Amino acid sequence: MANGSTTTGTAPAPRPTGGATRRPALSPSRASDFKQCPLLYRFRAVDRLPETPTRAQVRGTLVHSVLERVFALDRAERTPDRARDLLRPTWSQLSEECPEWMELFDDAGSGDELAEWFRSAETLLDSYFALEDPRRLDPEACELHVETELGSGVLLRGYIDRLDVAPTGEIRVVDYKTGAAPRQIGEAKALFQMKFYAVVLWRLRGIVPRQLKLLYLRDGQELAYTPDEPELARFERTLEAIWQAILKAGRTGDFRPSPSKLCGWCSHQALCPSFGGTPPEYPGWPEPDPGEESLLDRAD
Ligand code: SF4
Repeated sequence: MANGSTTTGTAPAPRPTGGATRRPALSPSRASDFKQCPLLYRFRAVDRLPETPTRAQVRGTLVHSVLERVFALDRAERTPDRARDLLRPTWSQLSEECPEWMELFDDAGSGDELAEWFRSAETLLDSYFALEDPRRLDPEACELHVETELGSGVLLRGYIDRLDVAPTGEIRVVDYKTGAAPRQIGEAKALFQMKFYAVVLWRLRGIVPRQLKLLYLRDGQELAYTPDEPELARFERTLEAIWQAILKAGRTGDFRPSPSKLCGWCSHQALCPSFGGTPPEYPGWPEPDPGEESLLDRAD
């Protein structure tokens, strides 16, 4: 029988500090990395090479944080104006936590680039309000940390943007997408992530989520998906197989590159043999934890 724990609440979630020693776990972002390219997984989860985020990625984190704060307000206050008012104070907090993000804007003097970037974040928020009226919603939790151990011993861990639970007990998992990934590839990755969360919730609560809902804020589209139990059982086996493959590669250090169209988004081409580079010496399987998701992962 699976077991696990959740942290609930609409108040802003505590940020990972990276200081605590935790068991290695699989997160949707890292599982997706390994599926895409084992070497990319190694660079991110084992070598933990730094990556410079794009403005679009940081904007995604900002918009996610604002939406989290919107749901912490009383229902009547969850308006587009209030959400826009939250943008700058939320950015102040985020840029204090990650001061290097300020370096993405090289005209700190005039502030023109930053102002334009805020306008683009406002557009994403407006797009959200065109899709949903948060005054009519009462989520059980936002930025919900979930963790469960499968019967096989694989530990799954991640953050769910929003969890809605109907009075009848039906569960809806909601995820906001603000990124610029190509639609088809992005959709496959997003569904992988949503099924990951569906498996975690199914194992934690014994209920198959009624709906997995993706809200695409760049183009104001939504995608809803209804999983069923046999599908989640199959997907659980897929996750177990991915984890076993990761552990096998982790023991030997044999993480192979798997070039694809997505290499264009990879920050580590200079170290990749497929692009003439040489990876750093394998440092060995990491402790404490290769499964943690970063703020950016959680908002992709
Ligand atoms: S450049 Fe492509 S093949 Fe190389 S590590 Fe990155 S994703 Fe993998």
